[in-house]
Amino acid sequence: MTDFTYAVDGDGVATIAWDVAGKSMNVMSTAAFALLSDLVDQGLADAGVKGIIITSAKKDFAGGMDLNVIAEMRAGGAQAIFDGVMMMHGVLRKIERAGMDPKTLKGGKPIVAALPGTALGIGLELPLACHRIIAADNPKAKIGLPEIMVGIFPGAGGTTRLARKLGAMMAAPFLLEGKLSDPKAAKAAGLIDEVVAPDQLLARAKEWVLGAADADLVKPWDAKGYKMPGGAPYHPAGFMTFVGASAMVHGKTMGVYPAAKALLSAVYEGALVPFDTALRIEARWFTSVLLNPSSSAMIRSLFINKEALEKGANRPDAPDQSVRKVGVIGAGMMGAGIAYVSANAGIDVVLVDATQEAAERGKSYSEGLLDKGVQRRKVTPEKKAEVLARIEATTDYTALAGCDLVVEAVFEDPKVKAEVTAKVEAAVGVDCIFASNTSTLPISMLAGASVRPDQFIGIHFFSPVDKMNLVEIIRGKATGARAVAKALDFVRQIRKTPIVVNDARFFYANRCIIPYINEGIRMVAEGVEPALIENAAKLVGMPLGPLQLVDETSIDLGVKIAKATRAAMGEAYPDGAVDAVLFAMADQGRLGKKSSAGFYAYDATGRREGLWDGLEAAYPVSATQPELGEVQHRLLMAQVLEAVRALQDGVLTDIREGDVGAILGWGFAPWSGGPFSWLDIIGAARAVEICDGLTARFGARFAPPALLREMAAKGETFYGRFAARKAA
Ligand code: NAD
Repeated sequence: MTDFTYAVDGDGVATIAWDVAGKSMNVMSTAAFALLSDLVDQGLADAGVKGIIITSAKKDFAGGMDLNVIAEMRAGGAQAIFDGVMMMHGVLRKIERAGMDPKTLKGGKPIVAALPGTALGIGLELPLACHRIIAADNPKAKIGLPEIMVGIFPGAGGTTRLARKLGAMMAAPFLLEGKLSDPKAAKAAGLIDEVVAPDQLLARAKEWVLGAADADLVKPWDAKGYKMPGGAPYHPAGFMTFVGASAMVHGKTMGVYPAAKALLSAVYEGALVPFDTALRIEARWFTSVLLNPSSSAMIRSLFINKEALEKGANRPDAPDQSVRKVGVIGAGMMGAGIAYVSANAGIDVVLVDATQEAAERGKSYSEGLLDKGVQRRKVTPEKKAEVLARIEATTDYTALAGCDLVVEAVFEDPKVKAEVTAKVEAAVGVDCIFASNTSTLPISMLAGASVRPDQFIGIHFFSPVDKMNLVEIIRGKATGARAVAKALDFVRQIRKTPIVVNDARFFYANRCIIPYINEGIRMVAEGVEPALIENAAKLVGMPLGPLQLVDETSIDLGVKIAKATRAAMGEAYPDGAVDAVLFAMADQGRLGKKSSAGFYAYDATGRREGLWDGLEAAYPVSATQPELGEVQHRLLMAQVLEAVRALQDGVLTDIREGDVGAILGWGFAPWSGGPFSWLDIIGAARAVEICDGLTARFGARFAPPALLREMAAKGETFYGRFAARKAA
C-alpha cells in the first residue's frame, strides 16, 4: 500500500495520484512526502515523460498534514523540526524548478496540480509549488490554509509562496485568518488558476501539460525583475501595508497568539531576501512556533480532542440513537434556535408554544436565518422551503406523537417545566427521551416531574444557538445510558461539539463564567480602573472583558442568578460585594446592552461606546492601581480554579471536555488550549504559588483545590495524570 500511485499514459503524461489507503481524506505523512519526492524524480528523469499531473484518486485532494507528523517533529526538538521542514521545502522546490536550467530557466517539465475537491494546508501548499493549479468546479470543496486556526501557520512554503503570489495585503485573509474558499472564489482571489467542469479536470490538466511552454513554468519570483505585488516592505505602498498589518494583527490577537506574529515576521523578513532564503526564514519561524506550548495545546484541544468528542469519545455503548423527529417546547429565543438547527440537519421538528402566535414567531426565526442565507447565496430557495417544511408550529401537544426526543426551552421556572414534562410524557411514546435546556436548574430535581427519570437529561445550548458550537449534556442522578447516547447522537446530527457533565449547580460552563464576571465586578467595587479590568482580560486572550460580558448577557439575569444562588447557599454566600454593584446597576435601569445602558455607555442606535463614566462617580478609582499581571491572574484563576473544582468534584469527568468546552462555550483564552492546558503550561507548582498569593490578598475563593496542591507536590500535569485514563 502506498500513498501515491504513478502511471504514464501513451502521450507521455505521468499522473501521480494521491490515495491514502484506509482514509476517506488524504493527509500527508513523512513517508508519503519521501515517496512523492521519488515519484517526481522518476518523472523528471524519464525521457519519455513530458510532464506530470499531481491529483487525487479520492473525491478531495487533501485535508492537510497528518498532525501526528507534527507531534513527531516536535518531539525531536528544534533541529529535527527545522530539518524536517527544510526537507519538505527541498521537495516542493524541486517540483517548482522541475529540472529547468537555473540560469536560462528553460528545459523544465510542466507539473500541474489537478484538484477534484477540498485542498487544505499542505494540500494547497503542494499545488502552490506546481506550475498551474486547476480545480474541479465543486462548490462543496474548500480551498485554503487553515493552519492559523490551530495555532501554527503554513510552514511548507505556503506562507512565502502565497505572499509572493498575491502580495501581503491580498494574502492576509488566507494566511492570517485561515479563510477558506470554494474553487470559484479561490480562482477570483488568485489562489488557484483555473476552474473546470469536474469531468474535464484531468483532460484539461493533460492539455495544459502538453501545451505548456518554458515560460509557463517560471514562477514570478524566479523570473528576473520580480516585484512583490502591492510592494515589498521598503516600497512606499508596501510600507503602509506592513505597518498596517502589524497593527491589525496585534489589535486582533492582543499579542497572545505566537503564530500570527511569527507568520507576519516570516512574510516581512522573507520579502526582503531571495526566495530560497525566504523559505529558510519561514522554516525558522515555523520551528519557533511549533516549539511554543501554545501551538501544541491549541492543536490538541481545537483539533484532536474536539474531533474526538464530536466522534463520540464519551458515548456510552448503545445502539444508534439518531433523532428522526424532535419536539421543541417553548418557541422563544432558545427554542426557535434549537428548532432551526434541527430542521437544518434534516430532522422533523414539532415546535410547541402556549399560543399559536408564539409558535409561529419561533418558526419565523428560522425563516429569517434562511432568508439571510439565500441573500448570501449560501442557501438555495429550494433548501429554504425544505427546511421550513420540516417545522410544524403548533400549540397541540398531540402533534408530538412519534417524537423520539423532546427538548424543552420554556421559562426558567421549575413549576412550568414540571407541567410541560407531564404534558409531553402523556403525548409521546414510552421510548422518547426528554431533555431540558435549563441553564441553572438541577436536572436531577427537574427529573422528579418525570415518570421516566432514566430518560430525562439536560441538553444545554448556548445563545445564539445557530452560532454557538458547544452543547453541554447534563447527566442527572437517574439519567440512563440511552439518554446520554441520544443526546450525543442528536448533537452529532446538528454538527455541534458535545461535552457530557454530571449534574451540579451551573453545570460546567456557567459555573466558570460567573466567577469571571464576578471577579471583574468585584474589582470595580474595590476601585480598580474599569478599563484596566477590561483590557487585562483581552490582553490575556479573553474575547470579552467581564464587564462587557455581563452587559451582553444582561445585568438583570446576573441579579436573578445572584438572588437564586444566595437563596440556595444562605450564610455561605460569598459574593455580597459583587451584588452591591450589580443590584445598584439594575436599580438604575442599567441592564446592559439590551437597555443600551450598563457598565458601558451606548449610543442612540445601541452601539457600544466607552465604559460608562458614571461608574467612576459611584466607585471612585483608587490612587494606586494593581499590576496588570495581578488583574490577569485574578480573572484567569477565577475561571480556572472553578474548572479544577468541577474536575475534583466529578462534574467534569474528562479534562478534554473541560478544555474544549471552555474555549467553545465561553471563549476561554483559545491560545492556551483551555484551563487545564493553561495550568499545564505554567505548571501546577506555579499555579499554587499564584493562588496562595491571591488567597492572602483577596480571600479564600483563590485557595488552591486539594487536587491542584497534590499535583504541584508530585510535579504532575493534568494531561500527564488524566490523559492516561482517557486517551488525549
Ligand atoms: P424565552 O422567554 O425567550 O422563551 C420561552 C418560551 O417558552 C416563550 O416563547 C414562552 O411563550 C414559552 N412557554 C412558556 N411556558 C410554556 C408552556 N407551558 N408551554 C409552551 N411554551 C411555553 O426564554 P429563552 O431565553 O428561550 O430560555 C428558555 C430556556 O432556555 C430557559 O430554561 C433558559 O434558562 C434556557 N437557556 C437560556 C439561554 C439564554 O441565553 N437565553 C441559554 C441557555 C439556556
